[in-house]
Amino acid sequence: MKGIFPVEKFCSYTTPFYYYNSELLRQTLNEIQQEAGKYEGFCVHYAIKANANPKVLGIICQAGLGVDCVSGWEINAAINAGFPARKIVYAGVGKNDWEIQLGIDKGIFCFNVESVAELEVINEIAGKSGKVARVAFRINPDVGAHTHANITTGLAENKFGIAMGDMENVLIKAETMSNVEFVGLHFHIGSQILDMGDFRALCNRINDLQDRLERHRIKVGHINVGGGLGVDYHHPNRVPIPDFASYFKTYARHLKLRNGQTLHFELGRAVVAQCGSLITKCLYVKEGTAKKFAIVDAGMTDLIRPALYQAYHKIENISSDEPMETYDVVGPICESSDVFGKAVDLNACKRGDYIALRSAGAYGEIMASCYNCRPLPKGYLSDEF
Ligand SMILES: *Cc1c(COP(=O)(O)O)cnc(C)c1O
Repeated sequence: MKGIFPVEKFCSYTTPFYYYNSELLRQTLNEIQQEAGKYEGFCVHYAIKANANPKVLGIICQAGLGVDCVSGWEINAAINAGFPARKIVYAGVGKNDWEIQLGIDKGIFCFNVESVAELEVINEIAGKSGKVARVAFRINPDVGAHTHANITTGLAENKFGIAMGDMENVLIKAETMSNVEFVGLHFHIGSQILDMGDFRALCNRINDLQDRLERHRIKVGHINVGGGLGVDYHHPNRVPIPDFASYFKTYARHLKLRNGQTLHFELGRAVVAQCGSLITKCLYVKEGTAKKFAIVDAGMTDLIRPALYQAYHKIENISSDEPMETYDVVGPICESSDVFGKAVDLNACKRGDYIALRSAGAYGEIMASCYNCRPLPKGYLSDEF
C-alpha cells in the first residue's frame, strides 16, 4: 500500500505535515450522502472540531453537509469556508456572550443549549437584538458508550447536557421566555463508537422521552443524535470508509420519528479520520539497552491523541521495503508521553525515511500546539501534489 503516498514528491515539503487524501474524503462524503439520503428527513452536519483545515472544509462544504460548531471561532471558520449559517448548529457547555451574539447575528439554525443558566443568557442577548433564537436542549441520556472513558459524554457523571428528569421543567421555563423558540432535542453519547447497540440504546432513550413529551403535548421539531461513529484505526487500508449504511439504518429502524420531524447527525471523526496521515521523517535510530527507538521529527505537539488517551495509530515506514524490525516510535518533545507507538513493527528504518501515522485526519492537525516553540504543522490535500 505504499503506493497511496507520492513519497517521491515529499522532499519539497517540510516535515512533519498532514497529508489528506482528497479522493478518499470525497468518496467518504458521497457514501454519507448516499446512505443518509435513503431516509426521509436525515440531515448530516460535520463536527468541525475534528478538522478545520480550510481546504478540507472546502471539500466538505461542496458535498452539502451542514456544520456542528462548539465555539464562536468555529462558527466563523465554517462561514469563511462557505457553509450557510442556516446549516450551523452550535453546542457547548460554556458559550461566551460574544459567541451567542455571533450565532444570533449570523442566524444559525440552532443553539444546542446545555443548561437553564445558558438559556436565560441566550434569551436576554436575543432580546437586546430584537431577535428570537432557535434553541434545542441537549439532553444527557445517561447512556454509556463502549469507548474510552475520556470520550464518553452521555453519562450522568459527565458535564454535558441537561438531565432527562429535568427536561419538562426546562421546557416549561423556556415557554415563559419570549426570545427563544424551542425547536428540538440534542444528544451526543461519545466518540469512536463501533457498537451499533450503543446507538440503539440512545434511540430507545429518545423514544421514551418523546412519549413523555407527547403526554405533555410538547411538540419537538427535530431530533439531533450527535455524532460518535468510530473508524477502524487498525485497518485504514482495508476499511477506509466507515460503515455508514449500518449506522443510518440503525437510526432509521429504531428511532421513532414523529410526523414532520427531521433527524440531524453530527459526524466528525467518521468523516475525516481515514483520509489524513501525519507524515514525519526518521531523524535517528537509537539503539537502547533493551529496544530500538525510531526518533521522528513529529511529536505530541503535532498529534496528541496517543499521549492524551493512549490512542492507537497505525505507523508505516513508507520509504523502506527492508525486513521488519521492532521499534518504539517517539518524538522529540521533552515529555515522556511523547510516544506514538511502542514495539511497532516497521520496515527497517534509517535516517531520512518517511514515516506515516495513519488515520490522523480527525483530532490531529486541529489539536496541534506550539509547545517547545514548535511551529504548527501544515496540511496539504493530495490534489496539491
Ligand atoms: C465532538 C462532537 C461531535 C462529533 O463527534 P465524533 O465522535 O467526532 O463524531 C458531535 N457532536 C458534539 C456535540 C460533539 O461535541
